[in-house]
Amino acid sequence: MAKEEKIDPFENAKKQIEKAAEKVSLDPNILNQLLMPEKVLVVNFPIRMDDGKIKVFTGFRSQHNKSRGPTKGGIRFHPDVTIEEVMALSTWMTFKNSVIDVPYGGGKGGVICNPKDLSVSELEHVSRGYIRAIAQIIGPKKDIPAPDVYTNQNVMAWMLDEYEKLTGESSPGVITGKPIELGGSLGRDKATSMGAFYVTEKLCELNNKVCKNTSIAIQGFGNAGYYLAKMLYETGHNIIAISDSKGGIYSKKGMDPTEVYHYKNNNGSLKGFPETKNITNNDLLELDVDILIPAALENQITDKNAKNIKAKYVVEVANGPITPKADEILDEKGIMIIPDILSNSGGVVVSYFEWVQNNLGYYWSEEEVMVKLKEKIYKGFDEVHKQSIEHKASFRTAAYILALARLERSMKFRGQA
Ligand code: GLU
Repeated sequence: MAKEEKIDPFENAKKQIEKAAEKVSLDPNILNQLLMPEKVLVVNFPIRMDDGKIKVFTGFRSQHNKSRGPTKGGIRFHPDVTIEEVMALSTWMTFKNSVIDVPYGGGKGGVICNPKDLSVSELEHVSRGYIRAIAQIIGPKKDIPAPDVYTNQNVMAWMLDEYEKLTGESSPGVITGKPIELGGSLGRDKATSMGAFYVTEKLCELNNKVCKNTSIAIQGFGNAGYYLAKMLYETGHNIIAISDSKGGIYSKKGMDPTEVYHYKNNNGSLKGFPETKNITNNDLLELDVDILIPAALENQITDKNAKNIKAKYVVEVANGPITPKADEILDEKGIMIIPDILSNSGGVVVSYFEWVQNNLGYYWSEEEVMVKLKEKIYKGFDEVHKQSIEHKASFRTAAYILALARLERSMKFRGQA
């Protein structure tokens, strides 16, 4: 893995904002407020484990900026969660929600734990314990969590149930990414990958040569990585490498992600998938491909490996996979990056649709959801593209410029500058 010691993702997020702010000479009063979260809650909560012992878990919820609406963003369960990471992720959510134009600020939560080491009942208790600990600061009009790394619809269901028990009210809009039976939206499970797929379509349209015999490598085979690989394969792209946290597989002639998915389910790992070669995560990142899709965690492409990246395009499906230093190196090499805050915004867009449906108590068909998602992503892409031409900026900086302009307007109306 290319993961370095001590790369602080919050420092990275601040650098990305400052770079765009400098280009548009942003009012320093606005900038200063955007360089720190409005509120960060740290919670330590006890859980009785299956062996009868009590274990104290630490969690965080960061609310970065509320000027455009209630804060919104997922909850991550991972052993490496830190307060800085959650602060960075909440900052990125503010910019993501602004660039794709959903009426939210940014929030993010995390619990330091490894769900793979917890029994189902321990996982339920951690989910419920965390919600009890943060219940005061969340709500359908305050802060709306959702799934993120290693959390899913079951975790959202327990969290919703715990919140409703505490408040004594039905409150489906407090959390998104719920099971359909509890007010979830059709299409939410595939939303992040569909959003990234629409972004890739637009990228192809912009550089039509990239569409022919496109070779693609995907790092990360979770919910987003798998569906995206499947969609790209089914539309004629050549998936030549896939990896998960344990390592990856490569085949020049390509592979069917659905077969890989079943293989992983049966064998517990990707290793040994027929007619492929085992590779490391770093090997995957350095493959000579048309499109590289980091869809795992942050800080994967750093100043250590950036010079070895050979892809022509990078579509960031993970949050923060490229450090600012690496970003500059890739820029110099002429590698075009579609930034996380645009490419992975499909998840929060359909979360927004879910929340709207919850507020209305009226539910849409999957087709309606997908039509609306596509419209939003295409529009976001075109607007970022326009800014990139206007400001002669990379897509990342252009996305930040667009988001900053919207945030600046809402903050000024509120008298925050
Ligand atoms: N965790 C996802 C993200 O990083 C989704 C957030 C949401 O749906 O609120 O964008």
